[in-house]
Amino acid sequence: MRIIKTPLLIKWATPNLVWQLPAEKPTLYLTFDDGPIPEITPWVLETLHKYQAKATFFCVGDNVRKYPEVFQLIKDAGHSWGNHTFNHLQCTHVSRMEYLRNIQKADNLLKTNLFRPPHGKILPSLIHTLKSKYQLIMWDVMTYDFDKSLLPKQCFENVRNNAVSGSIVVMHDSLKTEKNLKYSLPATLDYYSAQGFGFAAIPMKSCLSPVR
Ligand SMILES: [Zn+2]
Repeated sequence: MRIIKTPLLIKWATPNLVWQLPAEKPTLYLTFDDGPIPEITPWVLETLHKYQAKATFFCVGDNVRKYPEVFQLIKDAGHSWGNHTFNHLQCTHVSRMEYLRNIQKADNLLKTNLFRPPHGKILPSLIHTLKSKYQLIMWDVMTYDFDKSLLPKQCFENVRNNAVSGSIVVMHDSLKTEKNLKYSLPATLDYYSAQGFGFAAIPMKSCLSPVR
């Protein structure tokens, strides 16, 4: 079953995870996971620029290592960015030590206090450790743009039918989402701009202390 909008019960049960953000005026927080890559990320940046939209990029450290110039484009355009581990690790597949080291390895390049766990998987003990350094950013609306069985229009409808002011929305700047993203991102920007919404980056702070 696809959970498109995160249920309230899950949000209440996990007060240390951020699922949505307060917004004084109508605002969407678009987020892009798994980049940066030269094939897609520059297109995302150009598209956001057309709408004066800011967003947040949850970067895979190894992609930042391979494509530092694309990562620099994100920074230069005034967006924010988060840590998505160095190798897109799932915490349930590796030891706690390996997972934390992989995050630290990404942090050496990223220097951010935002973190999103790959596949949304996180354990209570990791939340406890990571929350001293990171804001753990989850989402309110998942587009499922990575699901090739979905039509591009359905990915957009997942946003339109569920996102409200303050919603954090997940998209992906990756090769497998290209077809869905190239329709659903402009459609989302068009639709919510016409409704008077703005598009903001999730605020970053300077890092507090190293993860132990
Ligand atoms: Zn991911």
